Amino acid sequence: MAKADKGYFYIDQTCIGCGACEHACPGKVDAIARVEDDFLGRFVVDEQDCINCGVCIPLCPVLCIHDARADGLLEGSGGYRAIAELQAWAAAR
Ligand code: SF4
Ligand code: SF4
Repeated sequence: MAKADKGYFYIDQTCIGCGACEHACPGKVDAIARVEDDFLGRFVVDEQDCINCGVCIPLCPVLCIHDARADGLLEGSGGYRAIAELQAWAAAR
């Protein structure tokens, strides 16, 4: 699969930190990591590494992994900003 400029997948704040997605993400890609110092142990997708394979989505028990393209977040100019804001929110926890 060709690498997109950026990944479109993101994890929202309802992540329960189970880690299933991290194991699903292809080994050499390794785009999912636990947010450091997050007291809930949540995970985040690094949009620079994600290859948009979608393998992680069906493994999430709380359905908190999303494809920004399907969510319409890329319409207009707010798509990547929305993802970046979510990741900044997670990183700041
Ligand atoms: S879509 Fe694929 S590459 Fe991106 S975070 Fe999920 S499993 Fe990893
Ligand atoms: S599978 Fe879902 S709930 Fe579990 S760590 Fe990943 S995003 Fe969070």
